[in-house]
Amino acid sequence: MNLILEERLSQRDCKQGFILDGYPRSLAQAESLDGLLKEKVLTPHVILLDVPRERVLRLLSGRRVCPLCRRSYNIYYQPPKTEGVCDVDNTRLVQRSDDQEDVIRRRLDTYQEETQPAINYYEDQGRLTRANGSQRPEKVAAEIESKLPSQ
Ligand SMILES: [Zn+2]
Repeated sequence: MNLILEERLSQRDCKQGFILDGYPRSLAQAESLDGLLKEKVLTPHVILLDVPRERVLRLLSGRRVCPLCRRSYNIYYQPPKTEGVCDVDNTRLVQRSDDQEDVIRRRLDTYQEETQPAINYYEDQGRLTRANGSQRPEKVAAEIESKLPSQ
């Protein structure tokens, strides 16, 4: 991962800064990213989108996809017009095996275990901003903008 990252970050368009989405996810990755950026005289600032565990669980476990047209639905937040079938082609919707609730719970536990130390690492150094990730995207953006330290 780090070699790919190092190569990508050395490209011209990253000179003024860049956004990494979903990385780092562990303390080891956070420390190694710091090492990488030190050479570039950059200090990362982390934005953490807080979403309650139960909501994440519903977002993922509620997902259903149409095997024919690949359209995706959520039985809690974005249900099809008729339960269990695709709006477009009436094909029966399916749940991917890694969207099963127990699989997701395990994934969330692992995430929590591995990522919490990285969150603490950045938070202890005042390099982490939390935003409520359950709002509409415009609101999330506004909250981040108002909370980010000025450069
Ligand atoms: Zn379909």
